[in-house]
Amino acid sequence: MSAKIYRSHYPDLDIVSEDLISYIFSNPFNVPHNKPIYIDAQSRKQYTYADVIQRTKSLTNGLQQTFGLRKDDVVALFSPNTIEYAIACYGIVGSGCLVAPTSAALTALELNAQLKTSGARFVVAHSSLLETARRAAKGTVVEKIILLDGASPVDGQATCEHLASTFPQGLLATISPADAAKRPVFICFSSGTSGPSKGVVSTHQNITANLQQWRALMLETGSPAQRPQRRTAVAFLPFSHIYGLNLYMCQSMAWGTSVVILPKFDLDTYLGCIEKYQPDELALVPPIALMLVKDERVSKYNLSSVRRVMSAAAPLTSELAAALEAKFKALFQTEVFCTQSWGLTETSPMATGIPNNRLDKRESGVGVIAPSMEFRFVDPETMTDVVANPDGSTPAGEIWCRGPNVVSGYYNNEEATKSAFYTEPDGTKWFRTGDIGAIDKEGYVAILDRIKEMIKYKGLQVIPSELEGKLIEHPDIEDAGVVGMWADERATELPVAFVVLRQKPNTSDIKTVTDGIHSWLNPKIANHKRLRGGIFVVDQIPKSPSGKILRRQLKDLLKSKAPKA
Ligand code: AMP
Repeated sequence: MSAKIYRSHYPDLDIVSEDLISYIFSNPFNVPHNKPIYIDAQSRKQYTYADVIQRTKSLTNGLQQTFGLRKDDVVALFSPNTIEYAIACYGIVGSGCLVAPTSAALTALELNAQLKTSGARFVVAHSSLLETARRAAKGTVVEKIILLDGASPVDGQATCEHLASTFPQGLLATISPADAAKRPVFICFSSGTSGPSKGVVSTHQNITANLQQWRALMLETGSPAQRPQRRTAVAFLPFSHIYGLNLYMCQSMAWGTSVVILPKFDLDTYLGCIEKYQPDELALVPPIALMLVKDERVSKYNLSSVRRVMSAAAPLTSELAAALEAKFKALFQTEVFCTQSWGLTETSPMATGIPNNRLDKRESGVGVIAPSMEFRFVDPETMTDVVANPDGSTPAGEIWCRGPNVVSGYYNNEEATKSAFYTEPDGTKWFRTGDIGAIDKEGYVAILDRIKEMIKYKGLQVIPSELEGKLIEHPDIEDAGVVGMWADERATELPVAFVVLRQKPNTSDIKTVTDGIHSWLNPKIANHKRLRGGIFVVDQIPKSPSGKILRRQLKDLLKSKAPKA
């Protein structure tokens, strides 16, 4: 059966093929040079548009002269959100290198694995994470750890902040438009559809294309009165994840949004910044939407500037969206539209969104296909396109997509790349998202399920195979299987483990044993990966003849399961 391709409602964009730095530093939207772009929520220190360019050029020069960064080096960036983050990122990219943003929540063991995957030659680390970075670098090819922050050198070694303030400006790497489509710029980490964490390689063009698609769909649709202005934004989503990296860090420079940066989420700081800086749009994840609905502190702040809330990274129910809108109406007498967008690290990230002139469709799901993208809805069993209903809507199928924002694979991992893409006989590739969705007769997409292994706790990825690998290192555990369990919108999904023990304990001892496993495991993993859904002791982990864990069966088991640990 031939492929049934669904295209965006909007005409294909004339995507400018340009490298990231040239695109955002060319000031395509005439941002005043003295406009603050990055503002520290706590210290109120800020960098203007002109400061960012000057500091990037100085840092580029400083990094090359002081540390010998060379074209195509991979540099891991290990830091919470700070106003130095973006400059370090642009300075590394300006040196012709790749940035591998790594979550500040990682343990040394986890970071070590990512450093090995990316083959990073340098780590740029925030001072609060220096010790973790040092431990993580052991046994990798990292040659030097460079401090991100610090106005003066530390122990005689320059920091990025110091270099950006003191070095003469250097030349930024030039990348031809043709190369922009091929040259990688970021290696972000994701499990993809299955297996361990992989480095998703985004090219310059993937990122600049998504900036243009985002603008066309989310800012330029509708009448001027319907469009968010986005003069300011409050950023708590980590820059180490593509959502924060593109939405806050890159977009702010591209079209001149002042971004107030929180190092981590704190409700009072967040609300205080919304009151002070008056953004008209909040970009968030469902657990924060729930907090805004439930927490009484919200009423102490004036949030009347907000007109639009955009949630992504995990499912947001229409009930929660409606409750959030009602809360704004009740407290601030404002009409707020709560919408969803959908995408993945591999789509850089935005792939769907609600256009400004169809906010009435916000309840039906995650919006329309982004301009210049194409989707298919495929039965994952038969690998054929689902048959559309007579009105043009489709039943559920796995979303496959392609477009200029879709990456072409995983770093140094041919096998994972091969299984994530379906290649047509003519060589064109479709990315298999692992999400189940459907499209309605008007072209609006709903996300219905996830068939990939990935678990999302509060919008943060938890990789089952990574936890299983750790659990079987425990001396009492013979085998393990990990799945996600939907909890509520505060936590979204909780990771749950099923373990087979070498020696079956008495029923009365099970709690002691599982408590011991939690205590043993927790120091080895980032906080969001903890087995908050519990540990169940079972006789065996269901597996296919080829040894693949049958996660659906584990999920079914969960529904009937005896008391959790
Ligand atoms: P990541 O690569 O970490 O951005 O994770 C991508 C995954 O997050 C997607 O494949 C979906 O499973 C999930 N996701 C993102 N946005 C949404 C959304 N609006 N609704 C449901 N799931 C989402």
